[in-house]
Amino acid sequence: MPPTFDFDFKFQQGFQGRYTFPTGLFINGEFVDSVDKETIDVVNPATGAVIATVSAGNEKDVDIAVQAATKAYKSSWGLKVSGLERGKLLFKLADLIERDVEEISCIEVLNVGKPYLATRHRETIGASNYIRYFAGLAGKLHGKTVEIDESIMAYTRYEPLGVVGAIIPWNFPLFLLVWKLAPALAAGNAIIIKPSEITPLTTLRLCKLFNEAGFPPGVVNVITGTGQAAGAAITKHMGIAKVSFTGSTAAGRHVMSSASSSNLKSVSLELGGKSPSLVFDDADLEQAVRWTAAGIFTNAGQMCYGGSRIYVQEGIYDKFLESFLAFVQKSKVGDPWDSSTTYGPQVSQAQMDRVLDYIDIGKKEGAVLARGGFRVGDLGYYIEPTVFTEVKQDMRIMKEEIFGPVVALAKFKNEEDVLEMANGTMYGLAAAVFTKDVTRAIKMSNELEAGTVWVNMTLRLQPSMPFGGYKESGIGHDLGEEALRSYYNLKSVHINLGGRL
Ligand code: NDP
Repeated sequence: MPPTFDFDFKFQQGFQGRYTFPTGLFINGEFVDSVDKETIDVVNPATGAVIATVSAGNEKDVDIAVQAATKAYKSSWGLKVSGLERGKLLFKLADLIERDVEEISCIEVLNVGKPYLATRHRETIGASNYIRYFAGLAGKLHGKTVEIDESIMAYTRYEPLGVVGAIIPWNFPLFLLVWKLAPALAAGNAIIIKPSEITPLTTLRLCKLFNEAGFPPGVVNVITGTGQAAGAAITKHMGIAKVSFTGSTAAGRHVMSSASSSNLKSVSLELGGKSPSLVFDDADLEQAVRWTAAGIFTNAGQMCYGGSRIYVQEGIYDKFLESFLAFVQKSKVGDPWDSSTTYGPQVSQAQMDRVLDYIDIGKKEGAVLARGGFRVGDLGYYIEPTVFTEVKQDMRIMKEEIFGPVVALAKFKNEEDVLEMANGTMYGLAAAVFTKDVTRAIKMSNELEAGTVWVNMTLRLQPSMPFGGYKESGIGHDLGEEALRSYYNLKSVHINLGGRL
């Protein structure tokens, strides 16, 4: 029998009852044990308590899932089902997620430690809307006829890849799942999903909705387990045509090398970042403070596109720093269920230790610790929002991804000076510019080496806007038509209209 999540809950919001659902592997529309019957414990980061046990799959399980997915793809999915029908199933899935919004949000809060209200409104409802975007696009990406001459007719045609893999990290488990699931299914692929071993619960909770929405068994499969076993098995499986991965640059390198040494499957990699925010003298100071603070501390700083470097022009540096510290002072780190909480815990003991190590490194390197820098309480994995100033370009806290509530501030003189600093890392995921001068905003946006640039804001993403990285922040895109396109093969057809050899 596969394990089960069984949780009696009574939350401050007034919900109480019992959530129960299987936590085995989801293959061919059913929950099953892993072949080797191994399991992993899942922890609530707000308390450190074990809240569930899930199956841990490996290459044997991935192989079974790929067989089921291939069969489903060939017999009852892919181009056998019209885009309109695929879209209808995705719309249904989005509606079911909204129907179960409380339960799904509560499970995400329990597993990831995110504040409840933001999780409900931004992530669960947000996930439904991202699915709807791709549901609407299903079947709408067309090939074209190409003029050659009267003897030849030629056209291109988009065809699904077949079976694809999705490897999901722990920082936005539900959100990042739908970023990959929705375009993959809209294009007509079957999918094998591997959630993070730390945060598998919302993905597992969604499985009964995949069935209820009407996806044929085998079209969506979930293999929980470690990156080393289940993740690596997906990247090297010969029956998987593409892997879409989000996670660290280090793991991304493994994914790419494994894809290249197996069947040369296509990969899309959304990796780390060290995103700069540039605040010019003419910026709206109050707005710049709010957006840059949210840009780094939201989700307890665990964001690939987090604005972890803030460069402030000399003329407003002192005022900015004073307002920034005062603003952050008003935030509250604590219980995710408390509606006054701004930031919850780090996702795991390992992640908390890693962030605290970086804080030590920053102090030893000689950066000035302007606030924070410590663990909050001794239950759960909370860290106080931390601000370092006078951070030099060559310090590790200015160069390396910390992935926690730690920001590095530095001054700049002019546009050339700040561009050199902003572009001076191996990463290129996102950047933000704060200025009232539209010419400067456009010039800076053009010059910044980043896949996403925000002007006078941070963090906001749209389902219709592609999201991907420059340099070592990744390859390919999630979201937008570009993401949908990446789940297809493009075929060129040449037809002889009577020409003889
Ligand atoms: P990883 O990159 O290791 O994990 C991301 C996902 O990849 C998880 O599902 C993981 O599995 C899986 N994975 C790990 N190794 C492999 C592999 N060899 N082959 C296939 N899949 C693999 O992130 P960590 O959890 O270790 O976090 C470490 C750091 O990574 C963070 O501090 C942060 O800097 C960065 N990170 C970046 C993210 C982003 O959004 N760009 C998201 C998360 C982390 P499992 O977890 O089950 O082992």
